[in-house]
Amino acid sequence: MKQIIIIGGGAAGFFCASNLDEKKYRITILEQNSDVLQKVKISGGGRCNVTHACFDPRELVQFYPRGNKELLSVFTKFQPGDTMEWFDQRNVPLKIENDNRVFPESNSSQTIINTFLNEIRNKKAEIKTKCSVKEIEKQGEQYLVKTSLGDFQADYIVYTTGSSPKSLKIIENLGHKIVDLVPSLFTFNIKDQLLQDIPGTSFENAEISIPKLKTEESGPLLITHWGLSGPAVLKISAWEAISLAQSKYHFEIEVNFISRSVDDAEEIFQSFRQAHPKKTIGQSKIFDITNRFWQKILEVSKVDLNKQISNISGKEIQNILENLCRKKLQVTGKSTFKDEFVTAGGIDLKEINFKNMSSKILPNFYIAGEVLNIDAVTGGFNFQACWSEGWLISQDLNNLEI
Ligand SMILES: Cc1cc2nc3c(=O)[nH]c(=O)nc-3n(C[C@H](O)[C@H](O)[C@H](O)COP(=O)(O)OP(=O)(O)OC[C@H]3O[C@@H](n4cnc5c(N)ncnc54)[C@H](O)[C@@H]3O)c2cc1C
Repeated sequence: MKQIIIIGGGAAGFFCASNLDEKKYRITILEQNSDVLQKVKISGGGRCNVTHACFDPRELVQFYPRGNKELLSVFTKFQPGDTMEWFDQRNVPLKIENDNRVFPESNSSQTIINTFLNEIRNKKAEIKTKCSVKEIEKQGEQYLVKTSLGDFQADYIVYTTGSSPKSLKIIENLGHKIVDLVPSLFTFNIKDQLLQDIPGTSFENAEISIPKLKTEESGPLLITHWGLSGPAVLKISAWEAISLAQSKYHFEIEVNFISRSVDDAEEIFQSFRQAHPKKTIGQSKIFDITNRFWQKILEVSKVDLNKQISNISGKEIQNILENLCRKKLQVTGKSTFKDEFVTAGGIDLKEINFKNMSSKILPNFYIAGEVLNIDAVTGGFNFQACWSEGWLISQDLNNLEI
């Protein structure tokens, strides 16, 4: 029987192992830690955001700043609908939340872990923990895997080591090119009077642009103790991960807190003014923002809260609208989003055959998961890439004539 060695007991490695034909192969998973699936355990705040209810591969790839072109063919073969069916067949009910993120109904990542461990047990696959791979030596069409627990002979290798720099070095030594690692998915540190003292203030749909990079994103936005967070910030941080690393996280952004042009906002302001000329500006509910934020806008625009709205000057209106729709803010650093660090960079995608996730330069060698230069925004997309890639590998191996 041929031996498959899976290096890395994480999401991609386990999904691949769970779909392999145990009648055809001996399967061994090597994991350096004392427990497998540790990232799955802490994922989604312990609930594991398994996938995203987006069932059109063309739409789905839009969530991957790196890998979008390559993943299209992968998702036409295994996509979130298939993931949901896979878990359903194993009696793990999943639920779709309002924002289309998919979680186990149990709200516990342990359900997902138990499902994988069960599959692996049924397949009589071997798991070796505290087994750190140090080096891989190519021996003809086979491999010698040198580890802290001794050497292993492999007919096929599935390389799923996540973003560990040490493990990228191992594969670089085998001839693969590595794109430098940079953080993706982070929040912006900003010190500005407008954001001071109002953490927790949120906006349903704001627009953020980085003028220097000619890039823009929209979505919910949140003021934090340190600056700005929320999907709009996370998305732009992921798409511009490389340029922002080059800027050393010092750059200017422009924020439109109400997603309306200055002209539209002025029209809304003027019609409110006509309807309620005697109201004080501080108590006027003109835009869909919180009272605290409105008062902050007036403070930084240097407008007296007690002034009657009919007495607000043209210059004052312009100041208010500029702060609301075109606020320039200086970003002076980044923070990690809820410890959900995802890295951009990894094995160069040009060296992967996306029909089956095999290496183009190493025979009988497959690669999947975060070790590749693929990453996504938050929402279950990073796991979906692991499931889809792991599944493709298993199908290719299962269909090999040996
Ligand atoms: C806090 C947090 C929450 C997250 N939540 C979500 C979420 O809800 N939904 C989502 O889609 N994504 C989420 N992500 C991202 C997601 O966890 C990763 O994209 C995913 O785990 C990558 O899977 P992987 O199998 O490629 O790597 P990993 O899960 O990192 O697994 C790689 C494994 O290989 C092992 N390994 C590495 N080198 C060696 C070696 N030399 N020898 C032996 N073993 C080795 C590692 O110890 C590890 O166990 C989250 C990430 C974090 C950090």
